[in-house]
Amino acid sequence: MVKVLKIKNKKVFACEICGFGYKDKATAQSCQNWCSESPSCNLQITKKAVYFPK
Ligand SMILES: [Zn+2]
Repeated sequence: MVKVLKIKNKKVFACEICGFGYKDKATAQSCQNWCSESPSCNLQITKKAVYFPK
């Protein structure tokens, strides 16, 4: 499951593995699927991120 964060009163769906957040759950889920199978980030997915972990 992806994490749901609240950032500035907006819902952000975050990948549990890399922590990047996305506006829609489907993108967060595909990031998480990618991260669980691959040690590197997928730029096609992470370019859509709206939240970056510190
Ligand atoms: Zn991820």
